[in-house]
Amino acid sequence: MSDSPISFDPTVVWDRIESLARHGKHGETGVARAVYTPEWRAAVDEVMAWCDSVGLETRLDAVGNVWGVLKGTDPSLKSIVTGSHIDSQLPGGRFDGILGVIGGVFALGALKERYGAPTQTLEVLAFCEEESSRFPNTGFWGSRAITGLTTEADLTNVVSFSGEPIGEVMAAAGFDPARIPEAARTDIEAFVEFHIEQGPLLEAEGLPVGVVSAITGIRHYTVSVTGKSNHAGAFPMDLRLDPMAGAAEMISNVINRANEWGRPAVTTVGRIAADPNFPAIVPERVDFMIDARHPDPAKRLELYAAHEAALQEIAARRGLTIELSNLMEHHPFVCDPALVANFEQAARTVNAPFQTMTSGAVHDTQQMGRIAKGVMLFVRSKDGRSHTPAEYTSPEDAALGIEVLTEGLRTLAYR
Ligand SMILES: [Zn+2]
Repeated sequence: MSDSPISFDPTVVWDRIESLARHGKHGETGVARAVYTPEWRAAVDEVMAWCDSVGLETRLDAVGNVWGVLKGTDPSLKSIVTGSHIDSQLPGGRFDGILGVIGGVFALGALKERYGAPTQTLEVLAFCEEESSRFPNTGFWGSRAITGLTTEADLTNVVSFSGEPIGEVMAAAGFDPARIPEAARTDIEAFVEFHIEQGPLLEAEGLPVGVVSAITGIRHYTVSVTGKSNHAGAFPMDLRLDPMAGAAEMISNVINRANEWGRPAVTTVGRIAADPNFPAIVPERVDFMIDARHPDPAKRLELYAAHEAALQEIAARRGLTIELSNLMEHHPFVCDPALVANFEQAARTVNAPFQTMTSGAVHDTQQMGRIAKGVMLFVRSKDGRSHTPAEYTSPEDAALGIEVLTEGLRTLAYR
C-alpha cells in the first residue's frame, strides 16, 4: 500500500473525454446530447460499461441515472456519492457535466484498485438530465427523482420544446414513468460534484482548481411597465407617460447596483419587449426579465429588496404602473464546511494550486442538498467559456482535478 496520492495520466483522461464526446458529436468540438435520445443512451451505455470494467456494481435507476457502487465494509454508514450530469446543452461542449462523471469513475476505480473496499460506501452517479435543453421545465429531472420530489403531474406538465410530454418520451426510451419513485434515495450522507468552472475566475488567478464553499441563489423576475401610448412627434416629452423611459432607468438601476456591490452579486436583464414596438410610437407597455444572483442567503434577499424598492420608486415617480412577479427562485446552497475543509486539504496533499470560491451557476448539488451534505470541486475553464462547443479544459487540469477528487474521497471513505 503506497502512501503517495493517486495520480492520473492526462492523456488517458483526455481519451475518455473524447470517447464520451462521440455521443451527440456536434461539429469538431461540440456535443448535443439531450436526455432520452439515442445519443444519450449511447453515453449511458458507455459509462455503465466503464463502471463494470473497473469492478463497480453498476445499475440504471428508474429515471435513467447511472450508479456505480463500491461497497463499504461498514453497512451502518450512509453512502458518499460523487458525479454530475450526462446530458448537454444543444450544442454544448465536451466537459460540462460529463467531466464529473468521468472523474468519479476514475476516482472509484483507482481507489478500489489500490485500497480495495472503503469503510464507507462510495458511489459514482451520472444524472440523466440537468440542462433543461430538451424540456425547458424539467427542474433537475435526475436529481429531483433522487430526492423524491418528482410528481405525477410532471409527466404531463414537463413538455419538450417540440411538444412531447416527458412521460411519453421516457416510456419510448424504455423507462416506466410509474416507477420513478423507486429512484428516490434516503441513504446518502454526502454528495461531491466535480465540474468545470464555466466562468473566468480561476483562469484570471492562474489556478487550476477551485473548492466551492457556496452555490449562488437565483431569482427571475418578470417586470411589466405600463404607461400611455402616443405619437412620437406630436406628444412633448414632459407630458409623456413613457414605459420605455421608465424601463431604461430601471434596467440601469438594477445592473448598476450589482456593479456597485461588486462580486459575487450579479444582475442581468433580458427578454425585453415593447408593445407597440415601433420607433414612431411611444409604447404602451414594456416587459423585461431580471436575473439576479447572490450566494449569501441574507445578502441575496437584501439585493432583491433594493432592486424592488428602486423599481417601485421609479415607476411611481414617472406615473407608470408596474407589475412584478417571481418566475423562478433557487435558494443558495452553502456547502458543508467540513467537506470544504476536506477537499482544501486534498488539494494541498496533491499539490494542486487552488482557491476557495463560490459558484455563480446552479448545479445538481443544490438539489442533492435536500437529502445530503454537499460540496463542489471546479477546474479551470479556458476563457471562462461554457455552454458552447468552444468550452475547453486542458487534459492536465482535468487530471489534476480528478486527483483532488480522488484524494478527498479517500480521506472521507477510508478510515
Ligand atoms: Zn453542468
